[in-house]
Amino acid sequence: MGNWKMHGCLADNTGLLQAVAKGAGELPAEVRVGVCVPSPYLAQAQSLLDGSRVVWGAQDVSAFTHGAYTGEVAAQMAADFGATFAIVGHSERRAYHRESAELVAVKTQRALEAGLTPIVCVGETLEEREAGSTQEVVGAQLDEVLARLSAEEAARIVVAYEPVWAIGTGRSASSQQAQAVHAFLRSRLTAKGAGVADVPLLYGGSVKPDNAEELFRQQDIDGGLIGGASLKDQDFLAICKAAAATAVAS
Ligand code: PEP
Repeated sequence: MGNWKMHGCLADNTGLLQAVAKGAGELPAEVRVGVCVPSPYLAQAQSLLDGSRVVWGAQDVSAFTHGAYTGEVAAQMAADFGATFAIVGHSERRAYHRESAELVAVKTQRALEAGLTPIVCVGETLEEREAGSTQEVVGAQLDEVLARLSAEEAARIVVAYEPVWAIGTGRSASSQQAQAVHAFLRSRLTAKGAGVADVPLLYGGSVKPDNAEELFRQQDIDGGLIGGASLKDQDFLAICKAAAATAVAS
């Protein structure tokens, strides 16, 4: 899943979306490809991706369904433009918009109610990792969301482990570091119910064509949430191909 963050313009998006749609069409059917675009470009994504193998989504949704919340975008509004996914709780929103774990949990509920698949992001800062609190931090972030969902609802989410120190820094977690946290998250999901154990777990944080395959080969890493590299069609498609190589192998 690509996360364009606050990048793009109508003219540049056209070439990128068309190239991704074309490249994705050549991938094995078991590889799922998507892009989360800035909300004003959802209509453009819908018009250029409809009928292709690429799904699209929003990068955030409001905790409210409608009303006097200037600047907010409701989950249902994204769904109106064919979005099927919404990122919630990205670390940039937690940090720059002071989103609490509770708010992220409410946004997850709103996304599910609108028929979207929420991609719930969790991750620790470097300070937290060095203090040995990674599991405590990501466990608490995930638990806040799971506590508000039934097992049936929880089975419909996606979780992305994104260590804050690896996002946009060029410094990815090693495959062992990522796998260890994914295995921990998997155990937490499994505890919620048998159907929740299979929730897709994405790794995000400086995934590039040259490290994607090694990451995706890990047992509990089901795919990636790709920031910077999703803005370059060839890089993004190379990462999708790495997913295809590991899907075929496993
Ligand atoms: C992200 O934005 O979610 C992300 C993982 O960014 P990058 O791939 O650029 O580190």
